[in-house]
Amino acid sequence: MENTKKALVCGAGGFIGSHLVKRLKNEGYWVRGVDLKKPDFSESVADEFVIGDLREQSVCRSVLDQPFDEVYQLAADMGGAGYIFTGEHDADVMHNSATINLNIADLAQKQKVGKIFYSSSACMYPAYNQEDPNNPNCREDSAYPANPDSEYGWEKLFSERLYLSYLRNYGLQVRIARFHNIFGPEGTWQGGKEKAPAAICRKVAQAQEGGEIEMWGDGEQTRSFLYIDECLEGVRRLMQSDFTGPVNIGSDEMVTINQLAQMTMGIANKKLSIKHIPGPLGVRGRNSDNKLIKEKLNWAPNTPLTDGIKKTYEWIEKQINL
Ligand code: NAD
Repeated sequence: MENTKKALVCGAGGFIGSHLVKRLKNEGYWVRGVDLKKPDFSESVADEFVIGDLREQSVCRSVLDQPFDEVYQLAADMGGAGYIFTGEHDADVMHNSATINLNIADLAQKQKVGKIFYSSSACMYPAYNQEDPNNPNCREDSAYPANPDSEYGWEKLFSERLYLSYLRNYGLQVRIARFHNIFGPEGTWQGGKEKAPAAICRKVAQAQEGGEIEMWGDGEQTRSFLYIDECLEGVRRLMQSDFTGPVNIGSDEMVTINQLAQMTMGIANKKLSIKHIPGPLGVRGRNSDNKLIKEKLNWAPNTPLTDGIKKTYEWIEKQINL
């Protein structure tokens, strides 16, 4: 027990956090998770799971009460395009997530934690570099002059800088990744906060053969999507490295949303038509630039998108039939 590494996972009830807890337990860590809620789809395997609100300093002090070897800060007020891009949640998104990060960065430094991981997002990249769907620029050093297309992205940029200033002034060992569209089983798949892969899997699974599915926009906007297992592999490799980041953790297999839908229909073996309707969209093009991660970690994700979509489709189909 003495040599067992201890980790705190903030946001352990969320999609990536709950998978990360499993991964750390498999690696032999002792894990404390904290979140407003328990994971939605399976029991947490954390050694301790605290239900608490990380906007409260007292809650942060009670969970970050010792010099953890590793802290993973994934808690954020977030959701899919339907939550982030409508503008209706801007104040909450900024206030809630920034408060969590202000609390955790300061306490992590005071508790002298070994290393802290912060999950930033590709949403912090400037909108002006993502107008051409075929040539988005998401190189890490293209972040400035800053102009994210959402308040969610601005908060991520602010918090990156917050953690980096704790590194500069106090030596806090931070590792920062910019995630690009992570998906997989046990992610939100209905209710408005789900992302494109889960929404498309659900719509395809629910449609009758020969029917149609609705899609926001013309479907020609491009994105890349990273399967959860590869995301965690990247996080763990970054934490074990000496590289601070920020670094992209994403796939560079760029597809249009129409292609993603066609891929999903192929997996489901259904022929459906797509009805394009108005809706919140985000930038026109985005893809992970993986040059830096290859250079610094000697690794980059490489699993084909279709493999992850297949696993996710099967899981969502099962949820629908429960
Ligand atoms: P998620 O919404 O499933 O998980 C976030 C968790 O944070 C939720 O369980 C939520 O309850 C918790 N949380 C929110 N406010 C809290 C508070 N005040 N106190 C305690 N817990 C609180 O999201 P996710 O997909 O697992 O994302 C994890 C992190 O990765 C987030 O920081 C997100 O911004 C970042 N990220 C995710 C993606 C993606 O594609 N999933 C992409 C880029 C960045």
